[in-house]
Amino acid sequence: MSFESLGLSHNIIRSINKLGYLKPFPIQEQAIPIILQGKDLMGIAQTGSGKTACFVMPILEKLQNEEVKKDRNIQVLVLVPTRELAIQIDEVFRSFTENLKREIRTMAVYGGVSINPQMKGMFGVEVLIATPGRLLDLIANKALSISSIQHLVIDEADKMFQLGFGEEMNQLFAQMPVVKQTTMFSATLDDKVSEMRNRVTLNPVLVEIKKEEIEIENIEQLAYHVAPENKGPFLRYLIKEKNIKKALIFVSSTKSADSLVEKLKKNKIKAVAIHGQKSQGARRNNLEEFKVNGAQILVTTDLLGRGIHIDSLPCVINYELPRSPLDYIHRIGRTGRANETGTAINILTDDELQHFRVIQRKMGKKITLQRTEDINLHGY
Ligand code: AMP
Repeated sequence: MSFESLGLSHNIIRSINKLGYLKPFPIQEQAIPIILQGKDLMGIAQTGSGKTACFVMPILEKLQNEEVKKDRNIQVLVLVPTRELAIQIDEVFRSFTENLKREIRTMAVYGGVSINPQMKGMFGVEVLIATPGRLLDLIANKALSISSIQHLVIDEADKMFQLGFGEEMNQLFAQMPVVKQTTMFSATLDDKVSEMRNRVTLNPVLVEIKKEEIEIENIEQLAYHVAPENKGPFLRYLIKEKNIKKALIFVSSTKSADSLVEKLKKNKIKAVAIHGQKSQGARRNNLEEFKVNGAQILVTTDLLGRGIHIDSLPCVINYELPRSPLDYIHRIGRTGRANETGTAINILTDDELQHFRVIQRKMGKKITLQRTEDINLHGY
């Protein structure tokens, strides 16, 4: 399924291509058409499922077609439990606003910082992402009006209660007009969340995305310690000596991906890359090359790695480590699926060892570091 078939127009698709999303995540596939139709939605999904883009895209798709008077009336309100989430969601909105039919201003507001700049910056904002307490303060100061909200989003509803925002949410709902459309997300649907759902939504469509369970027990994890100048030769040595027929190699940047592919090709190893600087067409072709045709190696980055689906992948190699331990799990989880065995190989230099220790601690699994200085890399 493509983004086009979900009903998103060219303006949004251009931003999707720029971000490098290859195809919709399951939550996007299910929720985008529902939101575009104007129905209320209750999404049960975790962070990492792609839930942010799943409401950002259809909301902007619709809002760009509306004529809105520039004033202090917010059109779209996204309620979030934390400052970090507010900033993150604002960034996602901004990455989609640049190609729209008209300018749409977005803003994130949260407590713990001075309220004055937020009050001053509010004029002309149509999409506001806010934590409950600061929103109440801004309303009390008449910095904005929520009387003409068309779309309300409540993100991480369960966390709102965990962090004790129940009372503030009540105060907000008491002031809120009847909203045309409400979209809610929560990792769980407990009693409090259900009660909130009953209060703010009307016949919501339920979309539930199960958490991806990654079985790391089926994956053999290996780690090799190499000198920086030996990283490339050691990788080629491994591919040949271990007779690796197919591997997905992760690096940290598009530049590294391209340079690694060049080096592998020079050494007669058929490799292709998929990353955000490549056109959609080039990415599809390269994936096809790897999946169906002869390419032995596919090099990618974390961002694009998420959208790639390959059945039966025997080996994943971390040529450069990911920043987050969660990304490490996602990377190695590409192999050893559906009860097959898989191998995840880490090639590490001195300055990556400390970070690798953090990853192991978070994963709750220790991996023995293997020395490589006695291996003769001549000719690789
Ligand atoms: P979220 O669950 O909204 O925090 O999103 C998790 C991550 O997935 C973010 O880094 C997004 O940029 C990324 N993402 C969202 N949708 C897609 C997609 N269709 N393909 C690839 N990456 C995506």
